[in-house]
Amino acid sequence: YTEEEKTEDYFFKIVLVGDSVVGKSNLLSRFARDEFFPNSKSIIGVEFQTQKIEINGKEVKAQIWDTAGQERFRAVTSAYYRGAVGALLVYDISRSQTFESIGRWLNKLQIHSDMNVVTILVGNKSDLKDAREVTTAEGKALVEAQGLFFIGTSALDSSNVAAAFQTVVREIYNILS
Ligand code: GDP
Repeated sequence: YTEEEKTEDYFFKIVLVGDSVVGKSNLLSRFARDEFFPNSKSIIGVEFQTQKIEINGKEVKAQIWDTAGQERFRAVTSAYYRGAVGALLVYDISRSQTFESIGRWLNKLQIHSDMNVVTILVGNKSDLKDAREVTTAEGKALVEAQGLFFIGTSALDSSNVAAAFQTVVREIYNILS
């Protein structure tokens, strides 16, 4: 690329939302550092990670925020959502209760964000095939009704993790450019 193109940066704030223990922190650690933590909340105090993603030869800096457990106390603050242009709304395919919370998280995104946040619904833990409580069809049906993207992921075996983040970044890029 020319020098001019190289310095033309895009910066997107992206938030991870969803119930506790669905795998938000591990999706981020898998994506950012290719690490997985088998025990819940081995990752403490990390608020966000900045990842460079190339889209159409342009460098996008994605600043990806993790709730770091705030949702346990229903205390995700408006500062968390402020300025976000993208969201990964995560549930655990082995716990239908986390899928039933999706509407509540969508409301929060709408209330707290000052623009239409590009949202992808993420059905995580796809490796837990025998324990599945929410079908892919159910996930996709919700997506159709709400006009969101959908992807099934596993932070454990890495499947679709990068694709989930890249889909959001690419869509934001397409809207803004
Ligand atoms: P958070 O509270 O939403 O941030 O969830 P964590 O990332 O802390 O993960 C909660 C628990 O689920 C941890 O024990 C993780 O090891 C586990 N976990 C996360 N992602 C996966 C996954 O894709 N598959 C399986 N089997 N376990 C996962």
